[in-house]
Amino acid sequence: MTEVRVEGLRARLSTDGVAALAVIGVPNITYLTGFSHVFDDEPAHVALVTSDACTLYTDSRYAEAVRSAADGTPWRIALPAGEVLSAVRQDLMDAGITKVAIESTLPYRRFERFRTGFTGEVVAADGWVEDLRRVKDADEIASITAAQALTDAAFEHILAFVKAGVTERDIALELEFFMRKQGSDGVAFAPIVASGPNSAKPHAAITDRAFTQGDFVVMDFGARIDGYCADMTRTVVIGRATDRHREIYEAVLAANIVGIAAVKAGLLGKQIDAAARAVIEERGFAQYFEHGLGHGVGLEVHEMPGLGPRSTKPVPEGSVVTVEPGVYVPGFGGVRIEDLVVVEADHARVLTRSAKDLLEL
Ligand code: ZN
Ligand code: ZN
Repeated sequence: MTEVRVEGLRARLSTDGVAALAVIGVPNITYLTGFSHVFDDEPAHVALVTSDACTLYTDSRYAEAVRSAADGTPWRIALPAGEVLSAVRQDLMDAGITKVAIESTLPYRRFERFRTGFTGEVVAADGWVEDLRRVKDADEIASITAAQALTDAAFEHILAFVKAGVTERDIALELEFFMRKQGSDGVAFAPIVASGPNSAKPHAAITDRAFTQGDFVVMDFGARIDGYCADMTRTVVIGRATDRHREIYEAVLAANIVGIAAVKAGLLGKQIDAAARAVIEERGFAQYFEHGLGHGVGLEVHEMPGLGPRSTKPVPEGSVVTVEPGVYVPGFGGVRIEDLVVVEADHARVLTRSAKDLLEL
């Protein structure tokens, strides 16, 4: 399966006229190797791809895990004694390679150290692997689907806990505990639980605030399975919803439904965003929806393609994106409703199963 990914990258190498690409980003290395449950967050590895070889440079802490993961794959493992990038540089020069691309996400200090000793030309590779990652294969979609199913189960589980007097921290911890206990690899991101005035901040930090009557509570969370993320948001009301609550909630829900209906392969991200944004504008809340409609989800919770007012690229078939309009009224509260969808040729296939009616808890 991952051979196709490496071949895709080689096509890019020959288009750009470079003999080798040094891949630094851990999600990119995970993607190209297909090794799961091997890497952590530490940027300790380099995956070097040339026209006829692929080599993973790592250190002894990962030796056992990578050796068994690489078995039966085209990946050769190199375990240099010193710094991995220095070893890559030496091997490139020994092989007579005079032009190498290196991922532009490499920290400047490491880049300088690499370039200083390299006799050939070094060019920046910006988003080469990320471009390939936009389109998911069947295995990737299966992992994301499983992660979303677990995320939906967490939402069902949490509803019994959400009530007046419980804090944001209590709910965030319960969501995380449930997902991890049910098999999530960590979490896709730290859950957001934002209540009352905090719900008007799209990425609010967790506090010890206790829920009170009339609060909107925004819960944004996702599990992770085999390295692949899920991402969903639901918003509930504590106690009885007022007309004001309903007016805001229904505007966001209508935008979510229209946004999902607008998704099809080949449209620009900004066209899909505009369809949903128009609904919020019609309802008079345009100034309260300041973020993009959605983003790609995969090995990272935020990846390409984007669905925002500045997303000028077509959204390809087989990508997985969120549709998450929101209205955030300062001092009052906010609503976000986020679903995860697979982009098909002429429609969106929705992975999120949780209902979207306004719940009063
Ligand atoms: Zn989210
Ligand atoms: Zn999201």
